[in-house]
Parts: sequence; C-alpha cells; structure tokens
Amino acid sequence: MRAKGPQMAVTEPVPYAIAPSISVSSERLDETFYFRQITRGNLVLGGCGHEPVDLDKRRAYVRPKHTLRQLTQMTRVVPALGHLQIIRVWSGIEGYMEDDRPVMGPSARVPGLYYAFGFSGAGFQLGPGVGDVMAELIHTGATTTPIEAFHIARFSRRAETTAA
Ligand SMILES: Cc1cc2nc3c(=O)[nH]c(=O)nc-3n(C[C@H](O)[C@H](O)[C@H](O)COP(=O)(O)OP(=O)(O)OC[C@H]3O[C@@H](n4cnc5c(N)ncnc54)[C@H](O)[C@@H]3O)c2cc1C
Repeated sequence: MRAKGPQMAVTEPVPYAIAPSISVSSERLDETFYFRQITRGNLVLGGCGHEPVDLDKRRAYVRPKHTLRQLTQMTRVVPALGHLQIIRVWSGIEGYMEDDRPVMGPSARVPGLYYAFGFSGAGFQLGPGVGDVMAELIHTGATTTPIEAFHIARFSRRAETTAA
C-alpha cells in the first residue's frame, strides 16, 4: 500500500444550481477532476492526481500548484465557474493499492484475520457497503457478495506470474 495525499479546495458560495457530482476522467491524471456543489452554495473540488506525504511527520501538505491545476480544469469544464475564489484548501494521508482496488476478505495465511483496507480514494463512499459485507463475512464465515477480486492473494498470484 502506498501513502498519497489527495488535495481538496472549496470555493466561495454562489447560488445553488448544480445537484449532481460532476467528474471528468482522462488518461492524464492531471485532467482527472471532480466537483460538487453543496446546498449552501460552495463548490468542493478534488482530483488532478496526488501529492507526496511525510509519513514520519504524519503530514500531507497542500501544494498551491495543485490547486491551480484543479482551477484550470474547472475553468475548462465549466468556464462560467472560473472566476470563483478559493476560500479553503486541505489534504490528508490515504492508502492506495497499486491496482486502485481495496483489499477485502480473509487473510491468505492467518486464520481468523480479516482485511478491509487500501480504499484508494473511495473509502467514504464504499464504507457502508464494506462494513455490511465484512460483518456478514466475520459473523457467518461467508458473504453473498462476490469479493474474490479484492482478495489479498491477488498480489502473490501476480508476483508468481511475474516471476514465471
Ligand atoms: C483529502 C481527502 C479527501 C477524500 N475524499 C473522499 C471522497 O470524496 N470520497 C471517498 O469515498 N473517499 C474520500 N477520501 C478517502 C477516504 O478518506 C479513505 O478512503 C478512508 O478514510 C479510508 O478508510 P480506512 O478506515 O481504510 O483508513 P483510515 O481512515 O486512514 O483509518 C485508519 C485508522 O487507523 C489508525 N491507525 C494507523 N496505524 C495504526 C496503528 N498502528 N495502531 C492503531 N491504529 C492505527 C489511523 O490513525 C486511522 O484512524 C478522501 C481522503 C482524503 C485524504
């Protein structure tokens, strides 16, 4: 698992008009961008990749260049929002897997140990479903949700394939 710092920004409030979350995907990480408007009117922006973090100091730092990249993308996607003032920025430390998928399920080696980590930028939205599945799995020893794709053993299988 790699530690990275996603960076966020919030604008001044403007009249509420955009209900859905809007997200732009691209092969280029610096163009991958999302935003949503909260009912109080502020727009919350994220995306355009990640910044390094300092694990010894347990700090993620906001880079002004990153905020400028996000503003550039917002202006490109919705030019009418390009004049908005940023009023706050923040970052945090997060765990990413190399395939951007979480690890969920029993340990491949230690009986009774279960994993749910590496949410790779999506832990808030996945949390309720993950909690439900993990509770079922730990309580009954099985789950009706297909989670094989998230098993920890995918990394040892990949290492074996690469070595062969
Ligand atoms: C700026 C930012 C914006 C984000 N935006 C979104 C979003 O819009 N939507 C979304 O779905 N996700 C978002 N995320 C991702 C989401 O926050 C994470 O995916 C989620 O918090 C991961 O949950 P977790 O429980 O796996 O890990 P964490 O929330 O990191 O929790 C791990 C916990 O373990 C504790 N811990 C660590 N080591 C030890 C130890 N040795 N002993 C005891 N405790 C320990 C830590 O203190 C921490 O409390 C965002 C993250 C950041 C940083």
